[in-house]
Amino acid sequence: MTRLIDLPTLARLVEDIGPARFMAELADQIREDFLRWPAFEKSARTASHSAGGVIELMPVADDTLYSFKYVNGHPGNPAQGLPTVMAFGVLAEVATGYPLLLSELTLTTALRTAATSALAAQALARPGSRRMALIGNGAQGEFQALAFHALRGIDELRVFDTDPAATAKLQRNLAGERDLHVVPAASVADAMRGADIVTTATADKTRAAIITPGLVAPGMHINAVGGDCPGKTELHPDVLRGASVFVEYAPQTRVEGDIQQLPADHPVTELWQVLAGQAPGRRSEREVTVFDSVGFALEDFAALRYVHARAQERGLGTEVELVPTDGDPKDLFGRTRGASSTVASAAAGPRLQRVA
Ligand code: NAD
Repeated sequence: MTRLIDLPTLARLVEDIGPARFMAELADQIREDFLRWPAFEKSARTASHSAGGVIELMPVADDTLYSFKYVNGHPGNPAQGLPTVMAFGVLAEVATGYPLLLSELTLTTALRTAATSALAAQALARPGSRRMALIGNGAQGEFQALAFHALRGIDELRVFDTDPAATAKLQRNLAGERDLHVVPAASVADAMRGADIVTTATADKTRAAIITPGLVAPGMHINAVGGDCPGKTELHPDVLRGASVFVEYAPQTRVEGDIQQLPADHPVTELWQVLAGQAPGRRSEREVTVFDSVGFALEDFAALRYVHARAQERGLGTEVELVPTDGDPKDLFGRTRGASSTVASAAAGPRLQRVA
């Protein structure tokens, strides 16, 4: 049977584990899978663009497990009562193609994106970073704030959004976080003044230059999350030219990330190389570093594995017969006549128990 995890079930899992611990454990899982980088069959995601947004499919596999995510990005959605980003995904066994897990990934995407940002910042931000500017206080905002607070020691947040209601929502949601001081800023420049780390998580389907060179101080680490699609950027190209740029998977980021504004041979370093000790991260106190995050399928693979294992431990989710699980595998037509179990399958039992 396939385990189905819907949004309320995933929300319960996060509440049970605690969002900070969830992101810390997920960051460990992502690191573990990034360290196995050569073991994966990788590709840039497939995108279907329209006037209002994009719908993407993100597959990845190793020898034993395959995953894909369906995800959209429609910056105009909140005005219609829908999130900008919505997602779900599947984890399947490579040997048979059997889908082990069908899971919500909207909430999970926010958690894995923040976990990856924190993982990158560990190698790229100055040690002892305390203050972060958070530009864009929408759906991703609190997750980024919490990940940097719990995992990277950020204790002061300067927050700015062109929509004051988004900032007010973020402040409300983070009000219970002791030791995290959240200060609303009057502008991007105001938020960035004195920041060690700058996170941008804005949504606008346009070539924006929210961060310009004059705002960037020596030694800053910029965690650019929102520029993740052709024609959608957040950083002025000179900010990128003046920094060391780190990416998830270069073939995808060159098309989708802020570096789409630079020549195709502009030097970048893939994060896995830094994690594996094959390339340096930050090299000096004054170096400006940019993590040009777009979101890579391997982060969702890691997240699906983590969610599957934690949900199984707690008995969370529903077992559904998404594909034929028992009965005569050749008698598919019989299912149309109510025959659900004509021959018991030896494979069904172990498959129910499998832990990804
Ligand atoms: P959202 O629509 O909920 O929030 C975006 C916020 O940005 C809004 O509150 C909006 O008012 C604000 N904004 C827009 N232009 C701004 C500007 N010029 N200055 C300040 N604020 C501005 O979207 P979200 O779900 O929070 O996602 C944010 C971005 O992150 C999106 O572009 C999304 O595609 C991207 N994203 C990236 C990843 C990744 O892995 N890199 C993962 C998830 C989402």
